[in-house]
Amino acid sequence: MSQLSQPVIEEFKADFPGSVILPDDMQYEETRQIWNAMIDRRPSMIARCTSSSEVAQSLNFVRRHDLPFSVRGGGHNIAGNAVCNDGVMIDLSLMKKVLIDQKRHLGFVEPGCTLADFDASAQAHGLATPLGINSTTGVAGLTLGGGFGWLSRRYGMTVDNLLGMDVIIADGRQLHASESENPDLFWGLRGGGGNFGIVTSFEYQLHSVGPNVLCGLIAFPFDQAKSIITQFARFTETMPDDLNVWMIARKAPPLPFLPETVHGKEIIALAICYAGDPTEGEKHIEPLREFGTAYGEHIGVQPYTDWQRAFDPLLSSGARNYWKSHNFSRIDDGPIDAIIDSAGVLPSSQCEIFIATVGGQTGRVKPEAMAYSNRDANYVINVHARWETAADDERCIVWAREFFTRSQPYASNGAYINFLTEDETNRIAFAYGASYERLVELKKKFDPDNLFRINQNILSN
Ligand SMILES: Cc1cc2nc3c(=O)[nH]c(=O)nc-3n(C[C@H](O)[C@H](O)[C@H](O)COP(=O)(O)OP(=O)(O)OC[C@H]3O[C@@H](n4cnc5c(N)ncnc54)[C@H](O)[C@@H]3O)c2cc1C
Repeated sequence: MSQLSQPVIEEFKADFPGSVILPDDMQYEETRQIWNAMIDRRPSMIARCTSSSEVAQSLNFVRRHDLPFSVRGGGHNIAGNAVCNDGVMIDLSLMKKVLIDQKRHLGFVEPGCTLADFDASAQAHGLATPLGINSTTGVAGLTLGGGFGWLSRRYGMTVDNLLGMDVIIADGRQLHASESENPDLFWGLRGGGGNFGIVTSFEYQLHSVGPNVLCGLIAFPFDQAKSIITQFARFTETMPDDLNVWMIARKAPPLPFLPETVHGKEIIALAICYAGDPTEGEKHIEPLREFGTAYGEHIGVQPYTDWQRAFDPLLSSGARNYWKSHNFSRIDDGPIDAIIDSAGVLPSSQCEIFIATVGGQTGRVKPEAMAYSNRDANYVINVHARWETAADDERCIVWAREFFTRSQPYASNGAYINFLTEDETNRIAFAYGASYERLVELKKKFDPDNLFRINQNILSN
């Protein structure tokens, strides 16, 4: 692997129309930062691309000089794969065009878009596709790993709504991948992450959503946790696809609908979103209010784009974060007791354990249909350790690992590739499950030298 010398940098700069940021430049510190402050890597050069030809130029350059490189979309990956030490960061975050074909319900999205960028454009036409729950997340990384959020029970994983992609592969060719063009590559890109190339455009199927939806939060006292989580687990097994409910165990943030005396105390919160007619939704959410005696609730009809931003203040960039997650097909006493024990000893006010409910339409797609294959994952439980200073690293990480180990015996197969941390490279094959062998074959075909390796890497040898 060669190093990036000054003449080599000058050679690149001479031809590259986009901006090039070097360690001595004013914008360097800000541009190399990603969401998770645990990741502190220093690339030798950042190539800020504004078009697919600049992406191709950057890729040709790193290949020609045998340089390590990373690809940055929204920079939210917990493992920090958007940034590398010493090599080149190919930064796509300025590529933010979104084109909506209102008539055909299609969205064409560039890879620097955040969920907020995409949602805002689609919702201007009353349209949306399933994305995640934090609006500053990148569309690109989320999609390439699978993608799920409030609309997934109704409309499936993000990848289930992906119709095509423009991608630059390892040998520099620009290909279109869809069911009819390069279908094997299309299969691999729908879950295979950044392993096969750099995607410069995504085409999505859109659906009529909102623009106003019934959504919000109910917060219950922690001493009702066992009963609330058990009822949540049974309720979510049979609720309609239009409804999604997630459970969050954490300390109460200072939300205006909660009495001040509750702020900072452990709570069990249910986060609710109904994708269909709000009046119909009211009937379906009523039983949730009967789960216990709530501290308070804030539920109403509001713009879908506002709900997509509702958790942003709790998930801002710049904190230190460590995650561990398992898939579950059913939630019984084992994981519930583990949640209650771990959430009773939260090591910081920002730590939480949540149950993301998936199921519905996500489970009706055949596991072999695409690289994302964990179709029996009705729930994803993520233990999210989050704190501010390095002095708390060990305490918080140990807490997350203990929960992970304790809940492991009850987990189902596979794991969500987008939730794997830096130290979980030994879980990649397990995460992909039945798809892994075919992914290895595809990697041999499209990237035999493992050019794209700073990612959840599918080893081809
Ligand atoms: C606060 C928070 C909330 C989240 N909530 C959800 C959620 O609700 N649902 C969900 O499904 N996930 C969620 N995620 C996980 C999220 O899907 C992943 O972190 C994902 O990797 C983010 O994509 P990104 O573009 O922001 O990341 P980046 O770090 O920029 O990229 C992630 C990976 O994708 C590769 N990549 C990025 N762009 C391209 C491209 N154009 N072509 C090829 N490879 C590329 C990168 O090289 C890297 O390996 C959340 C993450 C965070 C931090």
